Amino acid sequence: MDPTLQPVFEEILARNPGEAEFHQATRELLDSLGPVVARHPEYTDAAIIRRVCEPERQIIFRVPWVDDAGQVQLNRGFRVEFNSALGPYKGGLRFHPSVYLGIIKFLGFEQIFKNALTGMPIGGGKGGSDFDPKGRSDAEVMRFCQSFMTELYRHIGEYTDVPAGDIGVGGREIGYLFGQYKRITNRYESGVLTGKGIGWGGSLVRTEATGYGTVFFAGEILKARGSSFDGKTVVVSGSGNVATYAAEKAAALGATVIACSDSSGYVVDEKGLDLDLLKEVKQVRRERLSSYAEARESARFVATTTGGAVWDVPCDIALPCATQNELDGDHALALVRNGCTVVAEGANMPCTPEAVKVFAEAGVAFAPGKAANAGGVATSALEMQQNASRDSWSFAHTEARLEEIMVGIHARCLETADTYGAPGNYVAGANIAGFIQVADAMLALGVI
Ligand code: NAP
Repeated sequence: MDPTLQPVFEEILARNPGEAEFHQATRELLDSLGPVVARHPEYTDAAIIRRVCEPERQIIFRVPWVDDAGQVQLNRGFRVEFNSALGPYKGGLRFHPSVYLGIIKFLGFEQIFKNALTGMPIGGGKGGSDFDPKGRSDAEVMRFCQSFMTELYRHIGEYTDVPAGDIGVGGREIGYLFGQYKRITNRYESGVLTGKGIGWGGSLVRTEATGYGTVFFAGEILKARGSSFDGKTVVVSGSGNVATYAAEKAAALGATVIACSDSSGYVVDEKGLDLDLLKEVKQVRRERLSSYAEARESARFVATTTGGAVWDVPCDIALPCATQNELDGDHALALVRNGCTVVAEGANMPCTPEAVKVFAEAGVAFAPGKAANAGGVATSALEMQQNASRDSWSFAHTEARLEEIMVGIHARCLETADTYGAPGNYVAGANIAGFIQVADAMLALGVI
């Protein structure tokens, strides 16, 4: 890290104790900003970096609800409204037992620069709860969502803060959350949440957008190297929203997607994943991945308890699409050894700093999540546009917009990396391009 930024990082550590993921995300940004502060003393004069690392507002609240057995359950809710220099706070809600303030802050922080990269007028925020929807009935999930929104509604709005989904929050949860918001406010304010159902204000392509966008981004990397997805083998991690649609688009572009995972293990299917079966198992039946292998002869399931990882499966292209820090230095070495040449993050910060270092040293093209998975939030912004104009666009038109945005982000990352002396470095390009856009807006808006 540039020595002038070290005191800033020390201050972050002291002010945010025990928040390892937030430290990791801020450090990763600061590591790229040395050439920026050297060229732009005005950012230091206005304490832009210190200010951008401090959330504008953090809300923590109690979420009580009653389970099917009539027992009172208690969870904690969060919304971190991180930065609104470019537009209303925008970022998903995560329901997962691992959620605490440090996770929400890392995600909100990443979101600021990702949203800036899309070129859309949206600020950065994130929220969620330590609630675990797994194994809960629909009625329990509904009562939890209603209780969560009964507090959250007073903090959000189409011009203030616009949440969406993330891990554990899909179409079902967004429906219950929107229903409760509408009931409390007596307003059909479509633009207050994105990821809505198609029949009631949602946008076509939003479900597919993060996964498709990641593949469009990886496709641009391949194109810059005179290659494409056609004929390549691909491994994705996760089997949720991002993973499923990344696999779908990669397969549509001619790749064979041979493995995916969930928290119980991974499946290898050398014939290529049967995506209809995968959707049936994970989205409809909400079962573990072992059910996929039971239903398909060409597939085998490897349980997490055996100690292996999906990254042991040889592939040309790896798309980590599950969760933070799921791909470490050893996993990266295995991928490199097996000939992997491109890694694009569909999830947020899935690769540890050690893994990123291994990829850099081995010459593997590495696309960080804040660039590669920006297609989800970009399409959320397209959903907001459609809501504002009371319009709905066709699948083909919306997908074309998504692709255009991802191609644009890829070009911007490369240009910025070149300008700041780090040619071909997507991490530097994404961090610097996103930061400068936010920093210039913050300068213009004064000390607020
Ligand atoms: P999702 O639909 O809930 O799927 C998450 C997947 O990751 C599931 O297969 C889950 O397995 C697996 N997973 C979660 N925690 C895990 C762990 N600790 N170890 C192993 N596997 C784990 O969530 P999603 O929307 O696809 O989000 C995935 C990632 O993409 C997250 O990092 C999210 O922040 C990021 N992202 C999402 C969007 C979006 O539009 N949804 C946009 C940008 C970035 P189980 O089913 O076993 O839990």
